[in-house]
Order: sequence, then structure tokens, then C-alpha cells
Amino acid sequence: MKLAHRYKLKPTAQQRVTLRTWLELCRRQYNYRLGEGLRWWEATRTPVNACRLTCSIVPVEEIYKDIPEYRVQVRDGRKKDKDGKPVTKKGDTHPNIVCGYVEWQSVQLADLKNTKKKFPEYKQLHSQVLQDVVNRVDYAFSRYTTPDKNGKRSGRPKFKGKVYYKSFTYSQLTNAHLIKDEKGRDLVDLPGIGLVSLVLHRPIPTGFKVKTATVRCEADSWYITFSLEDNTVPVKEDEAIQPTWSNSVGIDLGLEDFLVTSEGDFVDVPQFLRKAASRLAKLQRNREKHFHGSYPRRRLNQKIAKLHAYIARCRMQFHFEIAYKILDKTRIIFVEYLSLKNLIRRNKPKTDSEGNYVANGQSARAGLNKSFVDAAHGQFVSILKWVAWKLGKRVIEVDPWGTSQHCHNCLNKTPKALSDRWHDCSNCGVSMQRDHNSAILIKKVGLGVASLKNALKGKKPTP
Ligand SMILES: [Zn+2]
Repeated sequence: MKLAHRYKLKPTAQQRVTLRTWLELCRRQYNYRLGEGLRWWEATRTPVNACRLTCSIVPVEEIYKDIPEYRVQVRDGRKKDKDGKPVTKKGDTHPNIVCGYVEWQSVQLADLKNTKKKFPEYKQLHSQVLQDVVNRVDYAFSRYTTPDKNGKRSGRPKFKGKVYYKSFTYSQLTNAHLIKDEKGRDLVDLPGIGLVSLVLHRPIPTGFKVKTATVRCEADSWYITFSLEDNTVPVKEDEAIQPTWSNSVGIDLGLEDFLVTSEGDFVDVPQFLRKAASRLAKLQRNREKHFHGSYPRRRLNQKIAKLHAYIARCRMQFHFEIAYKILDKTRIIFVEYLSLKNLIRRNKPKTDSEGNYVANGQSARAGLNKSFVDAAHGQFVSILKWVAWKLGKRVIEVDPWGTSQHCHNCLNKTPKALSDRWHDCSNCGVSMQRDHNSAILIKKVGLGVASLKNALKGKKPTP
């Protein structure tokens, strides 16, 4: 099982300076290495059916000039064959250009020693941290150039400004780097930086090994995330659990109540953003009184960032608490499949017969959108899935088509506007809260009563 634990770091003023310097050096290295790759890509690739209108101004020969044809392996490879001998040995040569493609990751990793020669400030960086920068560039670049298993690619990787480059990674850290000093304080030994105290608010689970550590700068402080691994803890095969009426629960997500379960449990919407709105507005108003770049303005920007971070953490904690609470009682959860893009889209513009724009209800819609964003149902569903995976339980997404407009008991269509909060069935007389009815229906659809789905799709509303 793999986990990630995050702890707050408490660096001294001197250490904070070092951390900031490292981050800035990493950022520059990232941009430089990305530039190398992009320049080559733009100079050598072109779409099949068209010429590029923009391309690298550096001639191709210039780019290839600095890339050696072969690289020589410095030490034996880690991978071993059946007899325990390394697959690749010291002294082996590998081509840097394969089928017209430059092996940028290897070339750039080998080039790091030249960086250290040219720019001696890079000598202070730990080698793993610097290598990880190259690996990050390679990841971003490969996501741009090669499609994943779903055939999707990311956009063109961007050069990172100071606001967007926030972390660096030690790719090999162990439990031995976590120590207690004679006063009983918890410390982490970061190679190249030294002993940094941290708030070990929860212990590393017994048996789990620390694998990597990512140091991250956030609005209020520095944080460290350890990735932990224990191969002896099995990840349970959740597909094995079969849903039945007694071991499953359907949930309906909404804004009047954050969620309603088919068992009739209601959870209120906490509205963290709405509650902090006046504080946020006051800070933002104050900020506008000061010039760009002035000290008070920067201070206020920090305060606003901290408030946003606080809101996001409150929300995340709430989501985790609710997820554990629901999964405590049941083994399988049916949740509606959310199309978040449609949920928070803007209203389409409306025009009258003469082509003039008329009110389209966007201001009301904007309020609704804000509430959706504040509730963050998407984050909740992904947290729910993660908690379920950890506990060896299941979350199944269900097509929510028609689940708010039909009766859970007789499947009769009872049309409701969004403002109608009560479900009254004219056919069988069921009378209950609207979302509760939906939750039961989601559970029924999820349990795959085949005739139910057909009935739902084909049923015409009774007069
Ligand atoms: Zn009914």
C-alpha cells in the first residue's frame, strides 16, 4: 500500500533563506531545460499537413551541436538479471539520438555536471533534487508529445514563474532521516539543508517505509510530504464485494443539503467560502488602496492567500470526515456521476426578436455557481473514492439521468422545478424530501434492477 503524509516544517530563518534559494535555482533549471526541449521540438517537428508559422529561430545544427552522439555509462545499472549480474555495465555506450528523437532526459541528466561548472551556485543543491528537476521536465514534455492510454495529451508545457514553481523533491529518503533530538523534538534531516524541525502530528504508520520527500512552499509555511510504502499491506480487491440492498447506500449531492443518503441522513452545507466572504472582501478592498508592488499590498496579498488556504483546508477536512462517517456504516456507495463542467457553466446569452441581448439569469446563476464551487462536490467524490480504496470498500458512479424527476417507489414521473424541494407522488402517494427520494432512486439504479432503468427511460408522465 502506498500513502502520502504531509507535515508542517518549522525551518529557522537561515533555513528559510536556503529553501527559497534552492527553489529559485530549481525553477531556473526547470525553465532552462524545458527551453532546450521545446526549442528542439519546434525546430524539428511540423504537422503532417501544414508548415509551422512560428518556429525556433535557432538553426537545427546549432541545437544538435551540443548533443554528443553517445553517452558512456559511469557505473553499473541497478537492474539485475536472473544471475544477479547488472543488466547494463560501467563503460557501456548508449546512443543519445534514437530514430531522430533526442533522449532528452539522459542528455540533460548527463549535462548537469556542466551546469555546476558554469554556475557554481548549483553546487549547493543536493544531486537528487537537481536530477528531479530534469525528471519533472521530462514528465511534462512526454505528456505533451505522447498520448496516454486514453489517447489524451496535455497542453504545451509552460515556463514557470515564481508563483508557479513551489516545490522540490528528494527522490530517495528513508526513515533514518526522521529523528528525535535529546529534547524530544521531531526533526527531519534534509541532505544539504540540515536538521529541520517539523510538527509530527501523526506518526509514520508502523511498517511503512519513507520513500521520497517533497518540500513545498505554501501561503503560510513550508510543508513536507513523505510518500510511504509497505508492500506487506495488501490492497484489497474491491471488485469482489457484490452490491446488495443491505450492504449499499445511495447518496445524492446537492446545495440545500450537502448530501442526503438513501437511509435518510442529511448533512448540512458548511459554506466555508460564504462564511469567510466578508473577511475576504474587506482584505481585497484594503488591497486596492495600495499601489502594485508596494509593501502593504504584498502583505495584504499574503493575508488573502492565507485565508484562501484556510478555507480550502477546512473544506478538505470536512470532506474527509464525512467520507469516513458514511463508509463506517456501509461497504458500497452509489454516487451520481457528476459532470462538473456543465454544472458551473455560464448561461447562454438570450436575444429578443430584434437581436438585442436580454436578461438571461446569469447573475442568479453566478450565485449558484459560487455555491457549487464552495461545496466542491468533485473533490468530495475523489476523496470518497480514496477513503473507500483505503478501507477496501467500493464507490460506484451511477448515471443520474431522471433520478430527480421520478418517484423511487412507483417510478412515476413527477416533474419539479429546482425550487420545489418536496416530492409528492400523485400515483402512489409517497411524500418525502426531494433529495432523499433521489438518493433512494440512485441506489436502485446502481443496484442494476434492469427493468427499473428501462422503465425510467421509457416512462411517459401520467397526467
Ligand atoms: Zn410514486
